This record gives sequence, structure tokens and C-alpha cells, in this order.
Amino acid sequence: MAFKDRIAHPWGSRTPYGPGQEWPARVDGHLAEGVAPQDVDRWVQSATILHSNGDALDIAVKDDRVVGVRGRAVDRVNRGRLGPKDLFGWQAHQSADRLTRPLVRRDGALVETDWDTAMDVVVRRSRELLDEQGPSALAFYTSGQLFLEEYYTLAAIGHGAIGTNHMDGNTRLCTATAAAALKESFGCDGQPGSYSDIDHADVIALYGHNMAETQTVLWSRVLDRLAGSDPPRLLCVDCRPTPVAREATLHLAPLPGTNLALMNALLHEIIRRDLVDHDYVQAHTVGYQDLVERVADHTPEVAERICGVPAGRIREAAELLGGARRLLSTVLQGFYQSHQATAAAVQVNNVHLVRGMLGRPGAGVLQMNGQPTAQNTRECGADGDLTGFRNWSNDEHVAELAKVWNLDTLQIPHYGPPTHAMQIMRYAETGSVRLLWVSATNPAVSLPDLHRIRALLARQGLFLVVQDIFATETTELADVVLPAATWGEKTGTFTNTDRTVHLSERAVDPPGEARADLDIFLDYARRMDFRDRDGAPFPQWHDAESAFEAWKRASAGRPCDYTGLTYAGLRGGSGVQWPCTAERPGGTERLYTDGRFWAAPQECESYGRDLVTGAPVEPVEYAAMNPFGRAIIRAAEYLPPHEEPDGQYPFALVTGRTLYHFHTRTKTGRVPQLSRAAPEVWVEIAESDAREAGIGEGDLVEVASPRGAVRARARISGIRPGVLFVPFHYGYWDARGQDRDRAANEMTVTDWDPVSKQPLFKTSAARLRLLRPADGRSAPAPTTTASRPVADGVPATTGGPEGLCQEDVGGGAR
Ligand code: SF4
Repeated sequence: MAFKDRIAHPWGSRTPYGPGQEWPARVDGHLAEGVAPQDVDRWVQSATILHSNGDALDIAVKDDRVVGVRGRAVDRVNRGRLGPKDLFGWQAHQSADRLTRPLVRRDGALVETDWDTAMDVVVRRSRELLDEQGPSALAFYTSGQLFLEEYYTLAAIGHGAIGTNHMDGNTRLCTATAAAALKESFGCDGQPGSYSDIDHADVIALYGHNMAETQTVLWSRVLDRLAGSDPPRLLCVDCRPTPVAREATLHLAPLPGTNLALMNALLHEIIRRDLVDHDYVQAHTVGYQDLVERVADHTPEVAERICGVPAGRIREAAELLGGARRLLSTVLQGFYQSHQATAAAVQVNNVHLVRGMLGRPGAGVLQMNGQPTAQNTRECGADGDLTGFRNWSNDEHVAELAKVWNLDTLQIPHYGPPTHAMQIMRYAETGSVRLLWVSATNPAVSLPDLHRIRALLARQGLFLVVQDIFATETTELADVVLPAATWGEKTGTFTNTDRTVHLSERAVDPPGEARADLDIFLDYARRMDFRDRDGAPFPQWHDAESAFEAWKRASAGRPCDYTGLTYAGLRGGSGVQWPCTAERPGGTERLYTDGRFWAAPQECESYGRDLVTGAPVEPVEYAAMNPFGRAIIRAAEYLPPHEEPDGQYPFALVTGRTLYHFHTRTKTGRVPQLSRAAPEVWVEIAESDAREAGIGEGDLVEVASPRGAVRARARISGIRPGVLFVPFHYGYWDARGQDRDRAANEMTVTDWDPVSKQPLFKTSAARLRLLRPADGRSAPAPTTTASRPVADGVPATTGGPEGLCQEDVGGGAR
């Protein structure tokens, strides 16, 4: 057993392995100071919740308090490893400032009350609005951090019992494009690939995906392949010098908002050189000829003029992709949070379709998620999707769901597409949404264009219910605040990016009167006296396990079929990948191994949209285009971003995250090790831009867009010239003054991708000015990550003695 500073070394020690070999185990753990393994009373099974990787772990409990975590070597996802946020993040849940009692607004101030009073207020307002205006007065905005059982219940209440179309998750900011791109290409959501494809791939392409910071354990797997025999070659597409870029065989840094132009040029080259698997294309796809025509003139030289990437480098990248025998691609926010997000992500799928790189070891696509339970929001239909990956535009699918719920079909609204998050906010702003129930998310920091968001959430006439574990910038504006339990304090399941389902058990009681989100939703349903068609209480389930069993019935026969899973089966061993059925009790490692897709007109989750305009494809049109349910090769023309740099705002502004924090830092900001690693907002500036503006490391600068400004210290980094980066984690709950100049979303724009409706966080124009020279201090940005400084002499990011964690290489199966 060794100890390692996991703040200074986020990915831990290397355990090299070669292609086709099993990834060696390494068990990571961290216990509170003074607690030794033999002091632990019990270990309770769970998985990680501060990212989407789904790393399996056990929670250490002593004297009914959580005192640490250790990885589970037996699990297929992480083989015992944990990342820094997992190792240290649990400490936040024990903060003294957790919400422990419900709050209601009286005479302008939030005051403590009991559950009966708080829920009565919510129920009374819900009933009044249903009587006055009907279901569309109510809207729900949830998260990617609740559990499957909670989303399923919320979907049943919102879409079923109430019948509102206004329900979405903050997954709209995060993974909406992943879902949309999968539906566009394969007819249905669900990752074709598997994390184990890393073990086999000879080329791994990461598109706008800083895996090293967003999924640290997955990146450890890649690093271990790179350290082993016959390593894969990496392609990195990112405008920042991320740790991925540093390891890459080839790094392309296109200008923000130009990804589609780059992808079209890569496809142009693959087709021109005839690196196409024509048999696969012929047997399993439709639309190839459209793609050939669309990219015919889109040469690398054309792309060079748009993206600022040399044509020769684009050709090299095409050669790498075209020469791969086992190609794994991953995609994330660098592609998803742009104006042609779905169109660009779909072209990654197209590379795989034209090259026949699907459904076998090493050949897969991972359209990544950001949040731990984002996949469940989508499966269960607590965002814009219909429960069980059903198709909103297919009346038979809606009727099938109504049967599962024992409700009248007409009660489930399907007159139009579900309302996406930004449109819900618009309805709240204009007054047609009058009750907004926000659970486990903090839109007053995470949504774009914050001046506007704050104003609409505070609007007279909007009744705002917020359910969370801490007071946030959003609870400040609420009429009712409901204290929730979190991970380790409740039981449920959740599913990671590669479809692996884990069970997370209750280890300790929630603080004070805080309640599991599931219990809050069910309590609301009982008080509202929702009934099914037979007059029985609806939803028909009463706790986590009965909700899971009910969900299994809703998922039966759909791509995300959970019918072979049980709580008992998920205990003790590894997580299991859906679909998991009686025929496939061990789950399914890869989808589409037989070249068959969930894309037939009667089966598909969506008929798709025009990738450029977002106009929905009509059912008849879809049936004519794809009668046999093949994969769909959809082409799209590049269009420039709506807000491009100009004389007044000469920089392209991108926002994003850092390895040590999650979302708006409500949890990670309360963890000493994580907070110290990245304590304050910063702005990354390229060396040449900084020189021209007379700005040095640590200088205080102002970044401003047409909507707002942020003041931060400058980190002079290797970012692409012409681009500024500001992390989006920092809001105001722990800010020193009252000025609204800390949150990156003061500057971002109200705009979204036309297909996925994902807001744009990567294409704003901005200007920069020096406010004050550094007073000997450098920027508060980590040195271990994409924000690494170019200058020497900046103190390295370390965790000191508090950052030390156990590492047991080859640790036995647990
Ligand atoms: S930080 Fe971004 S990618 Fe991560 S979960 Fe949040 S929205 Fe998703």
C-alpha cells in the first residue's frame, strides 16, 4: 500500500497494460484524518456522483458518520480507482451549513417551518394554478444528479399525473447533444460503445473532450494503455492545451464554433482517399450519398480558412482516423456547447459509420455525459425525452406508456415537442409558467445570461420551489425551499455514460429533517391525491426498490431494458450494462454488434431533425427515407457562429470546468483539498495576446461580453491565440463583495443549438482589459490541468499532507 498526493497527481500511479489485456486493478481510498481501515464500522456500496464516469466505491461509516471511501476493484468501470473529487468530495455532505429544515417565504424573508406547512403551501399553489390555468402553468427543472427512481417518479408525476409538457433537466446544458446525436444517427439514445473499448482501440479520438479533467479515472485507463505495449495513437480536438492534448499524437485546435467545418473536411479526406467500408455502408446505413455531395468541396484548405487549423494537419488527422483498425471516439462539451453542436457530433458518428467502426471491441463511439445520472434523466423522461426512449411523435408509444402507468393516453401531453429548459425560462419570464419546481440544480449560476435569469426567477407572479442540499444562489430567490438528502443518505440506482447501472445504498441518515428527493416527490403526489384510471393512488410505488421495479416494467422491450436487473443482483459485484434481460442476464457490452439499429419507423425514439434548422422530420418523410431502420448518415453545411469576435469584442470566449470542481461548487467548494486547488475564478489568455495587451501572469483583468463582465486574475497559458477561457463554477454564495462579477455566465449568450436545444457556452465574443498589475500573486488556477502556466515560477498545485490517499496497485477484488 502506497500513499500519493492525489491533488498533485490526479490520475495516480500507472498500471500499464497492452491491447486486449485486462486493465489491472488499483484500489484507491481516502479516510478522514485519524481513522484507520480497522476503525471503520461498515462499508456501504455506492458509486461516484461528481462526474459521469460511474466509478464504483464503498462508503466507510464510523459512528454513523461517513468517514471515507475506497474504490471497488471488482467493478468493470474503474477496477478500484477513484478520482480526486471522489476521494475528497464526500466531506461536503457533512458541512454544518446543510439545509435541514424546510423554508417558506414570509414578508419577503425565508423562514424555517415544518414539512406539513411547506408542502401544504406547494400543494395549495399547484391546485390553484391547475384550476385557473391548467397543467401548463406548472414546470419542473431537474438535474443530472438525482437517482433513476427519482427521475422516473418525477416524470410520472409531471408528464403523467399533472400532464404538463414543461419538464427538463440541467442535462440540457450538459448532455442534450449526446442524446440528440445518438438519436439522429442510430434512431435512439444509448451509447454504442463501452469503456472497455479503450482496452482494444488502436486509435482514440477525443473531440472537445478533456477526459483528463472530466472523467479522471477513464483517462487513467487511457494513460495506462499509453504506458503499455503497442499503445494507441490519440487525436485531440480542443482549443486548449489540455492534458489530453499533451499526450496526443496529433492535436488540432480549431477556433471555437468551427467544429463542423473541421469534421466535414475530415470526412472529405476519408471519402476522397476511399478509406470507406463500402460493404458496411451498403448493408447498414442510409444517406451516404448526401454526405459525399455535402463534403465534396469541403477540402482541408476550405476548413483551414474557417477553423484556423493548417490543411496539412487536417490531412494527417484524416489519415489517422482512416487508417485505424479499431477506432474509439469520444465527444463532449467542446462540441456540445456550440451553435452547430448536434451537426458536429453527428459527423463523429458518421466517421464510424463510413468506416464500419461499430459493435466490435475497440470500435465504438461514446457521446459522453457530464453528470453522474444524466443518462437516467433521459431514460426515465425527466428531461425532454419520453420515458423508456419512446417517441413523442409516435402515438403508439405514448399509448404504451399510458398503459404502463394506467392513465388515459390523452393525459400525457404530446401535442408538440416537450419544452426545453431555455424555453421554460422564457415562459416563466413572460408569465405563462407560474410555478417552477427546481430540484438539485442551481440555474442562478449555471444558465447563460445571468442578469436575465436572476430577474425572471425573482419575478413577482412566479412561485419558485427549490429542492436542494445547500442554500444556493437559486434558493435565495425561492418561495419554498425543501431540504434534500444526498448520496449516501438514500438508496437508488444510477447509470453512467457506458450504460453501466450501479446501486447506491443508504449509509447514514440525512441531517435534520432533510428527506430523499424520492420521498419528497411521492409525498407531493399523495397530498395532491393523484389517481390512476382505476382510482388507485398514482404513482403506484412507495419506495426506491418498488420504484425501480415499476421502472423495469416501463423499460421492458425498449433499448434501455432493465428487466434482468434487481437490487439484489446489483449488490456485491460489478455494475451491469443495460440492456439486461432474461436472455442477457449479464448485460450488454456493446450495442449494434449485428449492424441492427433501433431506427425502424415504428421503433425509433425520434424521427430526427434538420441538422441546420432544427425543423422536425415528419413521420412519413422518415418512413420513406429509412423504412428498414438502418443507421442514418446525416450531412450538414457549416454556418458561422451567431456572435463572432469583432473590433469591439475581439476574443472568442469559452467557458468550461476544471478537474477539481463540479458545477457551481455547492459541494466541491466546501471540500478543503478541492477548494484550495482552485479557490477562485481566473481567465486563461494566450501568451501572444497577453503580451499585446500588456498583461502578465496574475494581473487582475476584466473580461466583458455584450451582456456582462467578470473580474479575475490572468493565467497566461498555452490556449489558442484569440481565445479566452473562464471556468463557470464560481458564483456568489462564497463571494466576498456584492458585485456580480464572478460568474462566467454573466457573459454568455441566450442562444442554443437548433437540434438539441443545448445552450451555447463556447461561442461568445469578449474583450479584455487590464485592471491592476499582479501584486506578486499568480492566478488561482491549477497548474496540473489545461490551465498550466507557460511561465516558470508559478507555485505547483499540490495537496500537501491532506492530499495523500491510499493506492493499492493490484489490490484484491472487493
Ligand atoms: S460541468 Fe458541464 S459537463 Fe459537467 S456535468 Fe456540469 S454541465 Fe455537464
